[in-house]
Amino acid sequence: MGVPSLFLFYYPNIMKASAPVQLLQDPLFATKGVQVYLKREDLLHPTIPGNKWRKLKYNLQAARESGKNTLLTFGGAYSNHIAAVAAAGREFNFRTIGYIRGEAHLTLNPTLTFATNCGMQLHYLDREAYRLKNTPFFLEKLRHEYPEAYLLPEGGTNLLALKGCAEIVPDITVAYDYLLCAAGTGGTLAGIIAGLAGEKQVIGFPALKGGAFLKEDIVHLVTHYTGQTYDNWELQTQYHFGGYAKIKPELVAFIQYFRQQHQVPIEPIYTGKMLYGLYDLIRNDYFKPNTAIVAIHTGGLQGLAGLEERLGVRLT
Ligand SMILES: *Cc1c(COP(=O)(O)O)cnc(C)c1O
Repeated sequence: MGVPSLFLFYYPNIMKASAPVQLLQDPLFATKGVQVYLKREDLLHPTIPGNKWRKLKYNLQAARESGKNTLLTFGGAYSNHIAAVAAAGREFNFRTIGYIRGEAHLTLNPTLTFATNCGMQLHYLDREAYRLKNTPFFLEKLRHEYPEAYLLPEGGTNLLALKGCAEIVPDITVAYDYLLCAAGTGGTLAGIIAGLAGEKQVIGFPALKGGAFLKEDIVHLVTHYTGQTYDNWELQTQYHFGGYAKIKPELVAFIQYFRQQHQVPIEPIYTGKMLYGLYDLIRNDYFKPNTAIVAIHTGGLQGLAGLEERLGVRLT
């Protein structure tokens, strides 16, 4: 490479992505003597917020520089990644194709309505076909069908995504001891671990049941990206509330409380569970007094309307 990036020349703002850190005030924090900050990655970009923007940044650059005019990816019908790729396509002039898990429905949910309005072409894969989406056979078929497409994995996690997420670390402007983040594929967490290079302590909160497999994935990603292993991180696996996109009344109550107390909207799939876990750990004296904690708000708010509709609860 070594050639100045035309992509970055045309889109200089892509390099300037920065989000504020906000001090949270809560009687619990005062009682336990801890400082808690929220890194507002949800404010990073108006339509491609949170970690999805970090994960896409260098992928968009790679797609443009390899002459691809299309982004092709995979996700569930409520996926933040699908919404983010659709928005990125509209903003940076890529055609977008989304392979959606499940059946087509007559009326599109808010996420897929948004994606379609951004110009994304949707295809549906039944659960069986979706499971096979990463097999060489299927990928080869896609490459043959769409030679002009840059393929992004489900959730957007690859090494370029780690590179983007590592940039969250130097964008934190306060002193702190712990960095907390929700985890789906673990790509964001792996990027943060890479970015910290062994400094501070990192706690990840898996949104899925059975976080052990995730630990392996993260170790693999970090080692692959940095050539190093780090042991300044751990997963708190007990805050999944029954599994991905599963919620319970106490989680809904917590999300409503958090919104009231801090005037910050959060969603229940990722950030809500992580912050619930943080409150629980603080309550149980996990952190010594005078500890400073930065929790990352990874965004995901596009899905709130659909979730409220689907679950019949009020989250805002
Ligand atoms: C996708 C997503 C995550 C999970 O990110 P991974 O890199 O897959 O672990 C966390 N929070 C929000 C809001 C997301 O949309």
